Amino acid sequence: MNLLELRDLRKLFPVRDALGRRRGAVRAVDGVSLSVAQGEVLAIVGESGCGKSTLGRLALRLIEPDEGQVRFAGEDLRALSPAALRARRRDMQLIFQDPFASLDPRMTVEAAIAEPLRLHGVVPRGQESAKVAEWLERVGLRADHARRWPHEFSGGQRQRIAIARALASGPKLVIGDEPVSALDVSIQAQVVNLLQDLIRDLGLTFVLISHDLAVVRHIADRVAVMYLGRIVELGETEQVFARPRHPYTRALLAAVPGQGAKAPPLAGDVPSPMSPPSGCRFHTRCAHAVARCREVDPMLPSEAHAAACHLAAELPAAVAPHETETGGERLRRLQAFFTQGTAA
Ligand code: SF4
Repeated sequence: MNLLELRDLRKLFPVRDALGRRRGAVRAVDGVSLSVAQGEVLAIVGESGCGKSTLGRLALRLIEPDEGQVRFAGEDLRALSPAALRARRRDMQLIFQDPFASLDPRMTVEAAIAEPLRLHGVVPRGQESAKVAEWLERVGLRADHARRWPHEFSGGQRQRIAIARALASGPKLVIGDEPVSALDVSIQAQVVNLLQDLIRDLGLTFVLISHDLAVVRHIADRVAVMYLGRIVELGETEQVFARPRHPYTRALLAAVPGQGAKAPPLAGDVPSPMSPPSGCRFHTRCAHAVARCREVDPMLPSEAHAAACHLAAELPAAVAPHETETGGERLRRLQAFFTQGTAA
């Protein structure tokens, strides 16, 4: 069963000059359809500015789409009244990238974690402290940390507190927007492992927004690759990593040591999202582009492993060098990647 369904979502951000006159619009999300099954971990990857964070916020209705549908557990979120949406917020939470900005410096750790408990009536009044202590221990901190202030903690500890705050209300869906990318490389693996344990133990549905392909490969069941506001490839993680079908995915993977298929490197800059290229949006950087690519916009087919590319079926198979390794070998290689910054 799908917990989250996005249908043809679009979001434009107007661009104005100094006099307030509209000069165009950034097409941040431009026709995205996607579903996330209950209990699934879906990763959304892409370069900075591809629209992945905007998509995450649209999915939670933290920002309003211009067009399209967002369905959560079968319910149209856009049709909910403000009061009904507030009640639904308990089921949907966001973990932010920056643990220094996501915690209010004027609130103790206890106040920060207890706030959603109180807001959503998760525990009877007077029992918040016990629940906060329980959550602190669950994320690897101590119960007595509840009395301290955010500035007394390291970045990794703050992110653990932010995770406890996000999960304390018992959400069904959590969106992690680059949840470990602001942390030291040596801490990232610990927080990734914590997230993975919580996802499994709580049966969470998790959408991971990330540009870090090592993290994505470690915890995601499926991957959606975004480029200039569109999904260009979608499939099960191991299939996408072992046999990427879209030239953009191949180039992304080839750029990461130990992760990728052989592919020409990405050429040139990302075009402006105010005026995306005609036809295939990737054609200005694609080493395989033909005349048709400049004129006809390739659609994403509804296949289990799909790529929005006219030549996806014709390009030679791109096989990742680690396709045949065992799960244990892959884990050791990824841990080396986390701790040393290089693949083993
Ligand atoms: Fe490259 Fe053409 Fe495929 Fe776009 S449609 S990714 S330009 S080959």
